[in-house]
Amino acid sequence: MLRLMQSLTDQDRLAAIQLRIDQALQTAGRPAGACQLIVVSKTQSAERLVPLVQAGSIELGENYLSEAVPKIEALPKGQIWHYIGSIQSNKTRPIAEHFDWVHTLDREKIAQRLNDQRPGDRPPLNVLIQVNLDGEASKAGCAPEQVQALADAIAGLPNLCLRGLMSIPKADQSDPGQPHRRLAALLDSLKPAHPTCDCLSMGMSGDLEPAVLAGATHVRIGTAIFGPRPAKEAV
Ligand SMILES: *Cc1c(COP(=O)(O)O)cnc(C)c1O
Repeated sequence: MLRLMQSLTDQDRLAAIQLRIDQALQTAGRPAGACQLIVVSKTQSAERLVPLVQAGSIELGENYLSEAVPKIEALPKGQIWHYIGSIQSNKTRPIAEHFDWVHTLDREKIAQRLNDQRPGDRPPLNVLIQVNLDGEASKAGCAPEQVQALADAIAGLPNLCLRGLMSIPKADQSDPGQPHRRLAALLDSLKPAHPTCDCLSMGMSGDLEPAVLAGATHVRIGTAIFGPRPAKEAV
């Protein structure tokens, strides 16, 4: 008997996504485990996340500090948290204090503040440079031509560890893998000068497979696990 969609649990959908990641890795000829699932938990309650966190090796991604910090405090210590929202310069301290990774670094001033505010008892904050591949006015991220200079600036900051690049590609692509391959090529160009850069955060609910085929090491999935979010949201 087929089970109705409504009877599927978050854990069922999480397992299905993990399977799609595993299969895409296999298709790409990449090693098992080479792409980390980040469950994007914005707008979801801490209670809803508990069974997912207990079930497996997931990491969590949040966009809004006011809801993220209480959730981080409510869930078990040792859980890995990724900040994937836009960064205002007056909100850097809670990011530096509570998160393990930041995916949305796009300017030097923010890098400097995160570095200065990272607590001394925590390891360096893993950071990714967000790249605005197509110069879309509605999106954050630095231009591809500016990535090298920003990477050089970050490399001088001891409390940050530059790990690679992140992007949110345009939705309506005739070839959905094309932006992912461009981001991968940009990472390759950074590696000689910045050998700690080994990560590509790309791929969401709608473009998971093309992202994994192009080399994603982190995919960020919300809707495909939790269903549609309430409308008001701004990314
Ligand atoms: C919300 C969000 C996601 C998750 O997107 P879904 O389409 O719900 O999977 C991924 N990345 C970023 C930066 C987001 O803001």
